[in-house]
Amino acid sequence: MTAVSRMGPADGHLPNGHLPSGHLMERMPAVRGRLTADAPLAPVTWFRVGGPAEVMFRPADADDLAAFLAALPAEVPVTVIGVASNLLVRDGGVPGVTIRLGRGFTDIAADGMLLAAGAAALDLNVAMVARDAGIAGVEFLSGIPGTIGGALRMNGGAYGRELADVLVSATAVARDGRRLEFSHAGMGFTYRHSAAPEDCIFTGAVLRGEPGNPLEIARRMAEISDKRADSQPVRSRTGGSTFKNPAPEISGGHKAWELIDKAGCRGLSIGDAQVSEKHCNFLINNGTATAAQLEALGEEVRRRVFEASGVTLEWEIKRIGVEFSPSPPRGEGRDEGVRRQPDAPADGSPSPQPSPRGGEGDMADGGHA
Ligand SMILES: Cc1cc2nc3c(=O)[nH]c(=O)nc-3n(C[C@H](O)[C@H](O)[C@H](O)COP(=O)(O)OP(=O)(O)OC[C@H]3O[C@@H](n4cnc5c(N)ncnc54)[C@H](O)[C@@H]3O)c2cc1C
Repeated sequence: MTAVSRMGPADGHLPNGHLPSGHLMERMPAVRGRLTADAPLAPVTWFRVGGPAEVMFRPADADDLAAFLAALPAEVPVTVIGVASNLLVRDGGVPGVTIRLGRGFTDIAADGMLLAAGAAALDLNVAMVARDAGIAGVEFLSGIPGTIGGALRMNGGAYGRELADVLVSATAVARDGRRLEFSHAGMGFTYRHSAAPEDCIFTGAVLRGEPGNPLEIARRMAEISDKRADSQPVRSRTGGSTFKNPAPEISGGHKAWELIDKAGCRGLSIGDAQVSEKHCNFLINNGTATAAQLEALGEEVRRRVFEASGVTLEWEIKRIGVEFSPSPPRGEGRDEGVRRQPDAPADGSPSPQPSPRGGEGDMADGGHA
C-alpha cells in the first residue's frame, strides 16, 4: 500500500513519487486540513477490518469542508465516517474520498438547557458536559460509543430514548459544498434512520435537555455503563447491533436478538467472525476475521432467521466500500465454512460454557434498544 499524506494546498506535486500516476490524490482541491492517499481504515474501525480509503480527508473546520466539496469534481464519490462503531468497511476499501471529522468539530457547549456539539464530539463527552451543567435527558448518549454525526445519521438511541427526542437542529454540508441547516422535522427521524439526504455531512447539532441534578444524572450514567458491560460485548471488536429490531407486527413482538437466538445462530462462526455468545445481535471479530467473513456471517444469520421465523432482518450496520478483488487464494488458514463454536449446543440455545474468548457467557439482557 502506498501511504502519502500532505497538509495544506494541493499544488499538483506529491511530496514523494510513490503514487501511481492518475491516482485520485492528484485531483484533490487545495485544503487546510489533511489529505492522505490509500489511508488504512481498519485501525480506525471497531471491527478492525476493511481495506483502505482511496483518499482520506480530515477537514480543518466546516469552511474547509465546504470549500473542498464545492471544488471536488462531482463524479468523485464521497463517504463520511465517524468513529466507525456501526460500520463494516469491505476488504477492497472505499473508492473516492472518505471524510473523517476530527478536531475542529469536537466542541461542546452548554447554554441554559441547550447543548451545541460538533459532529465529531463523542456521544459520551456530550453526556458528560450535560451532566456537569445539570442538563438531564441526554444521559442515554453515554451508552452509545459513537459521535454526534453518527447519532444524527442513525438516530442513535438506547434505554428508551433516541436522538430524535432531544434534537433541536442540525447543521450539515451538502455534496456540492452548500451549507445546510435541518430543523427537527427536516431530519425525518424514524427508528435508527434519518431521511436527511444521504450525501450530506453533518457538522454539528443543538440538543435540548431539561433541568436535572448532576449527582442524579451521574447515577443514571453509571447504571447505563453497568448495564452495557453486563449485556454487550463492549470489549470486543464489534459493530454494535447488526440488525434493526423488526416492527412488532412483523415479528410478533420479538426483538432481533430473540429471532437470531431462536434460529440457532448464537455462537455461529465463519473463520474468526462470530455471532456473539453474550448478545447475539452483535457480530464479533475474534482476531483475523475479514469483512467478507463478517458480512457472509450476517447474511447467513438473515437466511436462518427467515427460514425459522419468516422475518427478513434489515441490516443496521452500514456496509461501505467494495469487496476485495481478485479473490484471495483459498486454503490460507481461513475456514470459509459456517461452523458452530464447540461450546455452543447444536439446538442453538444459549451456551452454559464460557466461549473461547472468555467473558462471553450467558446473556443478561440480550439487547439494547
Ligand atoms: C459496543 C457497541 C454498542 C453500541 N450500542 C449502541 C446503542 O445502544 N444504541 C445505538 O443507537 N447504537 C449503538 N451502537 C452503534 C453505534 O455506536 C451508533 O450507531 C453510533 O451512532 C455510530 O456513530 P459513529 O460515529 O461510530 O458512526 P459510524 O459508525 O462511523 O457511521 C455510521 C453511519 O453514520 C454516518 N455518519 C457518521 N458521521 C457522519 C456525519 N458527520 N455526517 C453524516 N453521516 C455520518 C456514516 O456515513 C454511516 O452511515 C453500538 C456500537 C457498539 C460497537
